[in-house]
Amino acid sequence: MNFKLVFIPPLLALPLLLVGCGSSDSAEDTTTDTTTDSSTDTSTDTDTSSTSSGWIINSDDEVSQNLFESGTNQGSLVNVQSVTAETVDDLEYTVVAATGIANYQVTLSQDEIDALNARPKAATDFLSGATTAQADVAFEFGEDIGYNSNNDCETTGGAGYWPPGPVCPENLSRTGYFPNSPEPATEDVASGLGAMGYWVNGTSVYQWGDGQSYNNEGVWQTLAPVAEVYDVDVCGGHAANGDYHHHFSSDCLGKMVNDEGTSHSPIYGYAADGYAIYGPWYSNGVLAKSSWAVRDYDDANSDTGCGTAGVRDCVLIDEFNVSLGFEDAASGPSTSDEYSSLSGNTFIASAGFFYEDFYWDTALTDLGAEYLDQFNGHDSGDDLGYHYHVTVTQDDSGTQIPAFPYTIGPRFYGKIQDNAITSTEGGAPDGGDGGELPDLPFCEADQEPEMGVCIPQM
Ligand SMILES: [Zn+2]
Ligand SMILES: [Zn+2]
Repeated sequence: MNFKLVFIPPLLALPLLLVGCGSSDSAEDTTTDTTTDSSTDTSTDTDTSSTSSGWIINSDDEVSQNLFESGTNQGSLVNVQSVTAETVDDLEYTVVAATGIANYQVTLSQDEIDALNARPKAATDFLSGATTAQADVAFEFGEDIGYNSNNDCETTGGAGYWPPGPVCPENLSRTGYFPNSPEPATEDVASGLGAMGYWVNGTSVYQWGDGQSYNNEGVWQTLAPVAEVYDVDVCGGHAANGDYHHHFSSDCLGKMVNDEGTSHSPIYGYAADGYAIYGPWYSNGVLAKSSWAVRDYDDANSDTGCGTAGVRDCVLIDEFNVSLGFEDAASGPSTSDEYSSLSGNTFIASAGFFYEDFYWDTALTDLGAEYLDQFNGHDSGDDLGYHYHVTVTQDDSGTQIPAFPYTIGPRFYGKIQDNAITSTEGGAPDGGDGGELPDLPFCEADQEPEMGVCIPQM
């Protein structure tokens, strides 16, 4: 097994494990107590006014109408609960306490309803073969729109809102530390699976991957926004181990922060290294652009293919430096082969389907200010400093399509402090404390997912 390893800091692993075990006390305050490390010099400032940069704070104890504390009919608190300032080992942090439960309001157009009903497995994805959502009628995050959701949604609410497969989100009551003065990393820090930032509503930022690869060989790794496109809700999110997350730009989040595309986007979230993640727009009508390019397998003479048209049997030695060339790899699907995802949806594995299909094209970054660097960020000389963007392209009808690497990465630009929320690749040597956290365990009816595997229901 050659999956990316997940390192979960011990203090954060506890609430995750409790939730994963179906514990009924997941509502317990599991806020990390930084004073447990006696060598840590900590001071707290509870004045939130100066540190709430973009965070969507739940100031009136709003609870979800659809997502409940496990086994109760008590709605879970939504969005961010508090934003405080804290100094740890002489570094100032913004400390964000959040449940991970969103409160999106969703209104679908008739075209969007039609698209839902045109899902390849609509006949079984929806209980009655079609969504019960109606055009131009608003509904809330977690409200039943007819999906045949995972059994676990019965205990937490949310049944009918998520397509089959993903578990339902739970109140994770977690706390994230974001350095106020982030610094560039001095070594390569690859992102891992699991949360690697918070969106401004306190839900999790996840990277490009979903923990799956062709024949589980660790090469030809699938991209969550592509292979799981039918496994996310109408806001482009889903939960793993109770943790609701977006792997790519969410329209619903964009609406919450009033991003109209008429100027540089507002902040959508923060990465674990402390740098802000802005929305997709660089300026009025101009999208920020990923500088990651797709290899050309189909032209046998291309510089980035494997020498035989359509064949995937070589990988780049370094996807950040294409000039280093290629090495042989286990064969993946050809660019005309079908690939079946965990949820049983079938895709043509054309170029751009797998992580290994991409490389950073320095020539694109050099094109201009709206072209991002290998970390999917830039400092374009305005007063925003270095920041990331979510990246999308637009089709002719204006629909946004996620563009690799979607959020940040595949590496962080900034240094990851010891108390960062994120998992990083290599953070758990030899498998260490982390282990694997496949994105979406799909379990039989009499089983439930726990830390990425299916176990008999208790
Ligand atoms: Zn920008
Ligand atoms: Zn996911």
